[in-house]
Amino acid sequence: MIDLRSDTVTKPTQAMRDAGYHAEVGDDVYVEDPTVNMLEKKAAEILGKEDALFVTSGVQGNQIAVLTHCDKGNEIILEEDSHVFYYEGAAISAFAGVQPRTIRGEHGAMDPTEVEAAIRPEDVHLPETGMICVENTHNRSGGAVVPLETMKQTYEVAKKHGIPLHLDGARLFNAVAATGISAKEYAAQTDTVQICLSKGLGAPVGSIIAGTVSFIQQARKWRKRLGGGLRQVGVIAAPAYIALSEMTERLNEDHANAKLLAKGIQEAGFKVANPVDTNIILMDIEDENVDAVGMIERLESFEIKAVAFGPNLIRFVTHYDVSTNDIEKTIMVLKEIKTMI
Ligand SMILES: *Cc1c(COP(=O)(O)O)cnc(C)c1O
Repeated sequence: MIDLRSDTVTKPTQAMRDAGYHAEVGDDVYVEDPTVNMLEKKAAEILGKEDALFVTSGVQGNQIAVLTHCDKGNEIILEEDSHVFYYEGAAISAFAGVQPRTIRGEHGAMDPTEVEAAIRPEDVHLPETGMICVENTHNRSGGAVVPLETMKQTYEVAKKHGIPLHLDGARLFNAVAATGISAKEYAAQTDTVQICLSKGLGAPVGSIIAGTVSFIQQARKWRKRLGGGLRQVGVIAAPAYIALSEMTERLNEDHANAKLLAKGIQEAGFKVANPVDTNIILMDIEDENVDAVGMIERLESFEIKAVAFGPNLIRFVTHYDVSTNDIEKTIMVLKEIKTMI
């Protein structure tokens, strides 16, 4: 099976499994797990933030940021196809009691002028803007890199109005690999940041949120409230440490495979809907005699997995557990499917 559904399907490497097995542990609710402490310190350094916190998932990290930055009845500004708006089960409303104000971005990037225009002035009728959220890379735009310059301008707007800016950097290291701009430089244009260790970086579990000491203090409390205060969690922090320190450099291999697949999709006579900045390819089959569900079934019959990303859109994600050879096989299958439909 060639599994191109997501980079979340990556399995931990042998080194990660060994590190988990041998990890030194303690009770992390008492902040006494040395492996977690080491991971959080390393993450804070890499992101250039005062402090960091290991959380169970990307969703939990983002939601803790919303809960920490906002009060009930606030509004948050975010891109209309962003993960926090689209894929987190309306948690911002269910838990934090905030409402979304969405902006349509271009390749995932919101126009800073439009962000500024969406900030609420002081008025008895209006909610207060509690947070601005940027996503980089942007998943539903096909792993698009949001330019650093756009992030800078957006952060200028946020600072001018005294509104915290959170970066959903689930795939920030894909942006880093694609541009050569460091995670620290990106994170410098934000107050807080969430990174996923369990996607392209291959850790079995976990995300990091980072920000000031006082942000992390409050975030730690929200994590506990949400049931995310774990005990001898060094067993999963150890593989996460390897993900963060050893797996970021190789992401360019996934990007090269993604470009190869995009080229093959076009050679097979299908359309690619996104510029393929990183490890995500969106295949547009609107003009074909098959819809996304039918295409997924056909791919499955050849032992290839992908996901429907709309009625006529298929998403392929390259990752650590997919080789260049697998990509070549996938291209051959697509050429064969093209002759069948
Ligand atoms: C996957 C993802 C998340 C959530 O991460 P989980 O660990 O699956 O909860 C958040 N934001 C973006 C952009 C993602 O792609």
